Amino acid sequence: MSAEHELEVLNPATEEVVATVPAADAADVDRAVARAAVAQRSWAAAAPADRARLLRRFADVVDTHIEELAQLEVREAGHLLGNARWEAGNARDLLLYAAGGAERLLGKQIPVPGGWNVTFQEPLGVVGVIAPWNFPMPIAAWGSFPALAAGNAVVLKPAETTPLTALRLAELALEAGLPEGLFQVLPGYGHIAGRALVDHPDVAKIVFTGSTRTGREVMERCARLVKPVTLELGGKSPNIVFADADLKRAIDPFSFLDNSGQDCCARTRILVQESVYDEVRDLLADALSTVVVGDPADEKTQMGPLISRQQLDRVRSFVPDDAPALRGSAPDGPGFWFAPTVLTGERHDSAAACEEIFGPVAVLLPFTDEQDAIRLANDTPYGLAGSLWTRDLGRALRVSQAVRAGNLSVNSHSAVRYWTPFGGLKQSGVGRELGPDALAAFTETKNVFISTEGPAQ
Ligand code: NDP
Repeated sequence: MSAEHELEVLNPATEEVVATVPAADAADVDRAVARAAVAQRSWAAAAPADRARLLRRFADVVDTHIEELAQLEVREAGHLLGNARWEAGNARDLLLYAAGGAERLLGKQIPVPGGWNVTFQEPLGVVGVIAPWNFPMPIAAWGSFPALAAGNAVVLKPAETTPLTALRLAELALEAGLPEGLFQVLPGYGHIAGRALVDHPDVAKIVFTGSTRTGREVMERCARLVKPVTLELGGKSPNIVFADADLKRAIDPFSFLDNSGQDCCARTRILVQESVYDEVRDLLADALSTVVVGDPADEKTQMGPLISRQQLDRVRSFVPDDAPALRGSAPDGPGFWFAPTVLTGERHDSAAACEEIFGPVAVLLPFTDEQDAIRLANDTPYGLAGSLWTRDLGRALRVSQAVRAGNLSVNSHSAVRYWTPFGGLKQSGVGRELGPDALAAFTETKNVFISTEGPAQ
């Protein structure tokens, strides 16, 4: 088989081959979309309570496979076991949450003269979901499960490096009794299977998570077909630390080291008020020196490897050996390892301070006052997430209104929750996932007027 026809999945902690999976081409995408279109028609016609019941059964089956899914995620993505268990649980919880939405897809009754006016939330049809490798299971779930609950079929293309948990979820869906063809997973290359899904005339919407560069291409191609998109793209999120903050909590290194920094919400621009800059630098140096980097299957490990050699090379390109930095340690030998790093000599407009590195690397930058902090926080094309730390309530409110980002935390580095909305401003994306309105993104509103006029007298 040629390299175009298969995907080799590597364990990023050992570089050993975990599995080889056939790669879908455009003809496979065609067939999958045709099957999905058939399955979608009867799914949309089913009673909402029946759809909800099946999705809850799917959640139950996922629940009985949490450990298996988590172990698979450790092997294919190098995630820490504890994180991977949380991720599998997140997929289960979102299924339960979305299932309730199937029974609550409410329309409106709008008063008009001469009749009744009602609206319906109708499913779109076949939804294409393109997922990245950084959180393979949750991101596949966020795009797919609300779409299913709203009456759509889903064809999901996982990242070429991490197809295994998504494939397993599709098997579990069948085991739970979801109709054949309703939730299909097609591993493949982005430029082949991903593009074919985006360009397919019978795919009604694309949900894409990944880099801003690829997201822009997806949006351009969808525009030719006037196809709606939800885009969850890159980030370069600030962590704004005022002098009056609880500094120890504010500079928690896992705000940018979680998942080895391969997190679109990672707080990688640490903006610190200059009067506490030295204190923060010393606290960070101590914190980095104690981070345990190593085997992700060992429960004592705090940070695992990067996903691939390519990603390791990319991260290295931002961190010259002689760059002024605080550094932790990382294993030698096989595996894609990079030590936790905070760059201390960067200008606010340098590549490391502005571009999404997607590794365990942050920059430490001083600011003078509130206006300067807001200016620096907004001085990036991204607008995904951010944290701000202060004990001054008025300042917390002013700054959280002024920072242009879709997801902010005050005195916290809170993670994404399936029951609150998530998404970015500016070049971090278009649209929102999760939260109470998640299903609405997978419906069109139909307006129907019903005349109450009687026969002419
Ligand atoms: P991409 O954005 O290229 O990949 C994300 C997904 O899109 C993958 O499934 C990929 O498939 C697919 N894809 C790639 N090209 C196309 C295309 N032309 N049409 C349709 N789908 C396509 O990210 P990379 O994996 O290349 O990572 C590069 C950088 O992107 C990272 O270093 C990081 O900075 C950023 N990134 C950001 C993420 C986020 O959540 N914000 C997530 C992942 C990456 P395939 O796997 O085959 O390439």
